[in-house]
Amino acid sequence: MSTPEQESSKELPHKKNDAATKPATQNGTYAPKPILPIKRAKLMSTATSSASSPSQHSPLQTRAASPLILNPPIDSDGLSWPSRGARSRIDQTADQSSQRERRIADAVQVILEELGEDTTREGLVETPERYARAMLYFTKGYEENIRDVIKRAVFEEDHDEMVIVRDIEIYSLCEHHLVPFFGKAHIAYIPNKRVLGLSKLARLAEMYSRRFQVQERLTKQIAMALSEILKPRGVAVVIEATHMCMVSRGVQKTGSSTTTSCMLGCFRDQQKTREEFLTLLGRK
Ligand SMILES: [Zn+2]
Repeated sequence: MSTPEQESSKELPHKKNDAATKPATQNGTYAPKPILPIKRAKLMSTATSSASSPSQHSPLQTRAASPLILNPPIDSDGLSWPSRGARSRIDQTADQSSQRERRIADAVQVILEELGEDTTREGLVETPERYARAMLYFTKGYEENIRDVIKRAVFEEDHDEMVIVRDIEIYSLCEHHLVPFFGKAHIAYIPNKRVLGLSKLARLAEMYSRRFQVQERLTKQIAMALSEILKPRGVAVVIEATHMCMVSRGVQKTGSSTTTSCMLGCFRDQQKTREEFLTLLGRK
């Protein structure tokens, strides 16, 4: 179990930068409230603690906070790192499904009104329902599981060369701000007598990205799932993404992107393998 300190130390680097380096007012019309002293103190102490363990907050922290050591369980349902309610979404009846959509739409209505909108004007009349359906789609990954995604696409194959699929488009939602982040995922593995249908790599990325995420965890989840399914000699996942919460708030300007990676097995242990992968990605 993690203590509150550990929890807070998991905050994304860009969140901390936000507080530590940026004044409260921005150039745009939107000026966020100043950070309360108590929160600032908390963020600063997080920053201090990260100084003593520098690996903790780098974008590549998936490597330092080793998933091999932490070894989070992967269940065949694909609900590892689960959300509360994911199970109820999977099991719901059609009736429960429409009730859920109604409740979300009602909540959206409240948000719009609190933001100062007139929800009876033409353009907004059906917006709560539309948004509810859109959000259910953007988070449809909660209703999918590894077993159904993979089906019978694992094959015995005497192939031990690197398999790599590049430029898989991903669209996800930042769980801190509920706004999109999107980009490309690159997935590689070196088989150990088992291979996976190539399209399934993209399906796995899709399943995990259609949930509320932080990019670091998304990267790790894809790698861990693949590792669990195939027991390969190694897995590497790199994700490059643009976060709307960063580029649209003036924290970091348009065009900035975040790269995360997770290397397991021989990608982790052997520099030669890792370099081959990065070369194939065009990064070296
Ligand atoms: Zn965010």
